[in-house]
Amino acid sequence: MSPETAGIHHVTAIVGDPDENAAFYVGTLGLRMVKRTVNHDDSGTYHFYFGDGEGTPGTNITFFPWTDSGRPGEFGAGQTETTAYLIPEESVTYWADRLDSEGVDYERTERFDETVLRFADPHGIELELVAADAASDAVPWPDSPVPEQHQLRGFSGVTLAVADYGPTEDVLTDVLGFEFAAEGDGRRRYRSGPGGPGSVVDLVETDRGRGRMGVGTVHHVAFEVADVDELEEWREAYAAAALEPTDVVDRKYFRSIYTREPGGVLFEMATLEPGFTVDEDLDELGSSLVLPERLEPQREQIEAQLPEFDGSPVGGD
Ligand code: ZN
Repeated sequence: MSPETAGIHHVTAIVGDPDENAAFYVGTLGLRMVKRTVNHDDSGTYHFYFGDGEGTPGTNITFFPWTDSGRPGEFGAGQTETTAYLIPEESVTYWADRLDSEGVDYERTERFDETVLRFADPHGIELELVAADAASDAVPWPDSPVPEQHQLRGFSGVTLAVADYGPTEDVLTDVLGFEFAAEGDGRRRYRSGPGGPGSVVDLVETDRGRGRMGVGTVHHVAFEVADVDELEEWREAYAAAALEPTDVVDRKYFRSIYTREPGGVLFEMATLEPGFTVDEDLDELGSSLVLPERLEPQREQIEAQLPEFDGSPVGGD
């Protein structure tokens, strides 16, 4: 029998200018920059993590800011269409006003009896704020520009675009243990076995061809795994479903495996431990560039090659 995932661990996307990226996720959405490092596979690119006050799994959206604007992505099948964060039901007006005052165009809709505010970040990543009185593990960040009672409460879920529901649905239900929950509004909704925050995956069908990775597209979605032993169980579960998981990769803040589901979306399974305090104190998270040990000897050269970044903006209103 497959192990179980509670739901989403993090979402990773490709964007443009690093200052614009941080200004939006910290300055507008009020998330905390919880880690500033480089892409471990490409040390010329930053890897930024934004989340709640402690970088709790299930709250973190992460980015590779590519400054080469000649590499735009193209949205299509096999990609994450939308990443949704939870907000309290009584915070809808606050967020509508905030998005207005920040000059962010949004669309307000109702979906499965929930109010949804839909908008894009400066580089084309589609986001939603879903108003629901759901339980949340998110830890408030006192220095956020957003008052604690209105702060984002971790992920609601993601919407994945696929050519056909079938193959991806099979992986969600047969391997990942999700259950069909609802259909309507041109989408099918699934929920992880344990439920709770970050437990929603919606599928939509698209006529577009395969998307192309690049600026403005989501690179992968990661699901929570308890520990390294469980990662091995997931490798076996994927292999038994004729998918091809990678070996376990050490991502410093978690251990991971990756597999591409048949609809084309890259799924990661990531452990809860050790977390972001493995190389910085809680009150220092994200305040300076941290590197994995193997890259530390090249720090000077790496810093010289990274794009300009003024640093994470912190609160103000
Ligand atoms: Zn990842």
